[in-house]
Amino acid sequence: MRVIVDPGQINSGGVLVPTMGALHEGHLSLIELARSRRRGPVVVSVFVNPTQFNERADFERYPRDLGRDVAMAERAGAEVVFAPPVEVMYPPAVDIPVPDLPGVATRPGLEDAGRPGHFAGVCQVVSRLFDLCRPDEAVFGEKDWQQLQVVRAMVASQRRAIGIVPGAIVREPDGLAMSSRNVLLSPEARRTALVLRRSLDATQECGSAREAEAAMRKVLDVPGVEIQYAVVRDAETLEAVREDARRPGRALVCARVGGVRLLDNDAWAGAAGGR
Ligand code: AMP
Repeated sequence: MRVIVDPGQINSGGVLVPTMGALHEGHLSLIELARSRRRGPVVVSVFVNPTQFNERADFERYPRDLGRDVAMAERAGAEVVFAPPVEVMYPPAVDIPVPDLPGVATRPGLEDAGRPGHFAGVCQVVSRLFDLCRPDEAVFGEKDWQQLQVVRAMVASQRRAIGIVPGAIVREPDGLAMSSRNVLLSPEARRTALVLRRSLDATQECGSAREAEAAMRKVLDVPGVEIQYAVVRDAETLEAVREDARRPGRALVCARVGGVRLLDNDAWAGAAGGR
């Protein structure tokens, strides 16, 4: 295992797993998935990217522990941890471009509504990481479903020869999606947070998007939960579901619980699946 801060020491090829550190089982499953691809060395990047945070306080309180991350990444099978300082990612004298945002980044009523500019920062840092690490493939978690679609669309529009590999959501035994932010939840908020998973489950019996969204809101209507969005969309374009289109749907939820912004999502077969 090598810990690298100088991108000049990274060989091109292999599989990149971009993270902001504070690794948990969800990240480890992505590293194991990267390893199973057998496409060369697995590089885990650890960088808390300032340009994708809307609030300075959120950036500052984001959990950081590089020593622990390195040990965990090594156990999961990574060969390299790339942990660049901010001056390497964004050298003061260099203008690191913000790529054109794909349409899927700015769909109304999703991430852009609550975190304007977030995906500009994500596209900037992911492009920069791709330029520095030049991987053959990169793994992204389905936990951040819209981010996964944004990265796929960006890579296609930039005509990069990098395969984007999706990793399934890893959950706590009680169903809460693992997240680096979960450590910020009070014990009470941690219990309340289970309504996110339950709201997704509630969509499964619903035959229309409107019914599914109403079912989600009903489950989320509890004290201590501030809904940011609870919607069902086309899984790839994240546009409104067309009931006649027979395309995969996705239920997506975002809520603040005890002041912590949490995301979750799940497949929704809905009208197309005839559930
Ligand atoms: P982050 O460190 O939160 O930026 O996440 C780094 C990568 O891990 C992203 O591709 C996330 O989608 C993914 N990820 C985060 N949580 C999970 C989870 N519970 N299951 C699977 N992947 C996850």
